[in-house]
Amino acid sequence: MDDETRPGEAMPTPDGAAELTRMTAAELAAAIAGGEVSALEVTDAHLGRIDAVDERLHVFLHVAADGARAAARAVDERRAAGEVLGPLAGVPLALKDVFTTNDMPTTAGSRILGSWRPPYDATVTRRLREAGVVLLGKANMDEFAMGSSTENSAFGPTRNPWDLDRVPGGSSGGSAAAVAGFEAPLGVGTDTGGSIRQPAAVCGIVGVKPTYGGSSRYGLIAFASSLDTPGPLARTVLDAALLHEAISGHDPCDSTSVDAPVPPVVAAARQADVSGLRIGVVPELSGEGYQPGVLARFNEAVELLESLGAKIVEVSCPHFGYALPAYYLIAPSECSSNLARFDGMRYGLRAGDDGTHDAEEVMSLTRAAGFGPEVKRRIMLGTYALSSGYYDAYYGKALQVRTLIARDFEAAFEQVDVLISPTTPTTAFRLGERADDPLAMYLADLCTIPSNLAGNAALSLPCGLAPEDGLPVGLQIMAPVLADDRVYRVAAAVEAALTQRRGGPLLDAIRGPAGLPAPRAAENRGSSTHD
Ligand code: GLN
Repeated sequence: MDDETRPGEAMPTPDGAAELTRMTAAELAAAIAGGEVSALEVTDAHLGRIDAVDERLHVFLHVAADGARAAARAVDERRAAGEVLGPLAGVPLALKDVFTTNDMPTTAGSRILGSWRPPYDATVTRRLREAGVVLLGKANMDEFAMGSSTENSAFGPTRNPWDLDRVPGGSSGGSAAAVAGFEAPLGVGTDTGGSIRQPAAVCGIVGVKPTYGGSSRYGLIAFASSLDTPGPLARTVLDAALLHEAISGHDPCDSTSVDAPVPPVVAAARQADVSGLRIGVVPELSGEGYQPGVLARFNEAVELLESLGAKIVEVSCPHFGYALPAYYLIAPSECSSNLARFDGMRYGLRAGDDGTHDAEEVMSLTRAAGFGPEVKRRIMLGTYALSSGYYDAYYGKALQVRTLIARDFEAAFEQVDVLISPTTPTTAFRLGERADDPLAMYLADLCTIPSNLAGNAALSLPCGLAPEDGLPVGLQIMAPVLADDRVYRVAAAVEAALTQRRGGPLLDAIRGPAGLPAPRAAENRGSSTHD
């Protein structure tokens, strides 16, 4: 596209449709329930937006236009029959392609699944359908959710709607870019080490990792089973809360699902009040190596919280510095075991099946052809860490560190109600910039990993743009296990204050009338690459 072209002008959809794609999920659901607009019109507006911009963003691996329209029509029919609809009925959503869907392919961002069609819906998928949520299609992701940029997808990267030369974060980068790029008001991702919060932060939207076990892993293609957690992506805290409640709750099909009431996150998002709350700033999650603009926005958020009546204290979590190395032993160890099932016999791809190879060779040829380099690296790391002679030194030690990190959280939450930090050390980096440097890529999750290891709830909220590059910065809010409502309560208060100060939502700052900047068109987006 030429630099002079404004993406909004190129949009084939009429103004009314553009307006629908700008509305929040709560607004859309209310308009549908009130009969102001049909679910079908809402779905068509989003499908039109996908047609107009997805060639540039590359969010969707599969668009389910017919299925989405059928689901929308069903909502309209139920409404016409006088049924009272749920709080998200008729609202479209981009589903990370790691959840099984019985009517769409499921790839996990990998070639190894080939043209496999799952015979069943994941629990998250099923709950979304039951809530009347309209599934627009399957969103791009890093292969098997391993990565922080969506560049590890076997199907090519997704781009950041703020700057098409930048990554949208990962591994749920497709779902995050869909929401930030107005292709869908809602997305669902999974967070194993930060893969919901990190892309939310660098795309300027809200992303939540619920308490581990709060949302079901049944039908979620496994990466690291003791860490994987489905959760919401949205443009507002209230929308995230509505989606959180829709997908959460006990599931007998997942043995690690928590059998406890879903924390009242929607009520907390509506409460939006921090007066009297004790908020801990974690010194281990800031300082050297963090981009100055990220720290500046974070410090402003701390001041804002204080001005809203919260009591701010510094709370040290001395073992957080070991979270990243511990994670990169535990997650690969679990993945090396989980990914053993992709053997060319059961699912998808099969290589070398020409009668000249025995079964073991077929397995090895299939895995060599089907897995990308990062997945192979993780399998090798994990196999090594679990091998006899090294198990105690690596995997065993990492588990001990995991316990120490959980104890840091427990001690901290005796002093404060929530902890806060930046979500990521830097804003969105450039495509290709870290692709050949796994360690630089791993650092993107420095602040998010502790909550995965301990299993507690954590949310990322946009808290402004970094002055040096004009890109979004995320504020991370962490709460104890099963106190997910607290992260919503604090986030909603900050969101309300920031929206008022700014005079509108942060995403309004995206260039171009359609909210998608022409590549390289942003003149005052600094050229300094501060990563
Ligand atoms: N970026 C981290 C990794 O590559 C986290 C991924 C995730 O949360 N799924 O493992």
